[in-house]
Amino acid sequence: MHDFTYVALPARVVFGNGTLAALPAELARLGIARPLIVTTQGQEKAGTDLMTGLDNAAAGVFSGALMHTPAPVTQDALRVFKASQADGVIALGGGSTIGLSKAIALHTNAPQIAIPTTYAGSEMTPILGQTDAGRKVTQSTLRVLPETVIYDVELTLSLPKLMSVTSGLNAVAHAIEAMYSQSANPMLDLAALEGVRALTSALPRICEHPEDVDARSDALYGAWTCATCLGLGGVALHHKLCHVIGGGFDLPHAQTHAIVLPHALGYNAPTIPNVMRQLEVVMESNDVPGTLFDIAHNAGAPTALRDLGMPENGIITVVEQTLANPYPNPRALEREALHALLQSAWSGERPT
Ligand code: NAD
Repeated sequence: MHDFTYVALPARVVFGNGTLAALPAELARLGIARPLIVTTQGQEKAGTDLMTGLDNAAAGVFSGALMHTPAPVTQDALRVFKASQADGVIALGGGSTIGLSKAIALHTNAPQIAIPTTYAGSEMTPILGQTDAGRKVTQSTLRVLPETVIYDVELTLSLPKLMSVTSGLNAVAHAIEAMYSQSANPMLDLAALEGVRALTSALPRICEHPEDVDARSDALYGAWTCATCLGLGGVALHHKLCHVIGGGFDLPHAQTHAIVLPHALGYNAPTIPNVMRQLEVVMESNDVPGTLFDIAHNAGAPTALRDLGMPENGIITVVEQTLANPYPNPRALEREALHALLQSAWSGERPT
């Protein structure tokens, strides 16, 4: 056993199939009488259905959430929140929606109930990344941590196959990096390994049968334990690369994580033999980076950064930005090896 520091976050998690039925009781528990429901345009109908289900007692539905929480959207949502005299927020959606809910909470201190419908994991973290005039600023404060999280398997059945796989691999990335980050501890290892096991076994089954409730249940359970890792643990090279690439070329969040993960893990693998051994056991694979790549490839998800629109000459920029301001990482950052990692991820080679 190595030395560690363990920190916990307050959380109330209601998990199951049909748990949306618990929403009125959970609202009452927090003393919320007029919640504002926030979501994306694509999930607007789900938002209005939810409002109807609450006998129209909600303050309204704001369906303008966008990726990376742009400041103008937050300002619009805050105007609606105040004008409708809302006293709490219900976030129905993925990381973009939960980001907006967190931004409202940051400004108003309103209590939040998050109802995640992807596997990204923002609901369990005190982290908020916001963009203003093209610049992303991330902060961590308990003010934005949702008071209650309702995981309802039923709401994930509609998540498209490709988004399920990339979002699930995004969650797996949070768990894997927590195992070798500077904040690693034995409780996080347990959560991480359980999340990786549940998600990597569920994602191929979801690809075969997107409405397989058992597979969806395993995936959402894995998403929760992986999200716990992001909330409590640290990150390393993989997240650094995704932040530089995603921000620099405006690439989609989940897809970028899904592509980079096998390559970043392959880079670190020689320096983290204990982590690799444990991952091999839970994934029942002696080639963990290759198996992660295959999950995306077999699903038909993008496996090359060039297919997301990143230019090849961007590789050098990413290497230099990563070296200029690195995150702590178990393997030292080597310019040539990083270049090779990114070249493989850009062209979509299976990691060796
Ligand atoms: P997203 O929230 O942008 O959702 C992607 C798309 O899927 C949207 O169009 C949405 O309407 C749709 N969708 C979501 N659930 C659906 C469902 N069940 N059925 C049908 N369609 C559905 O994607 P995401 O990957 O969940 O979130 C990405 C954002 O979250 C990024 O901005 C990222 O930075 C942020 N994030 C933040 C944290 C954190 O801790 N702060 C953690 C993870 C992700």
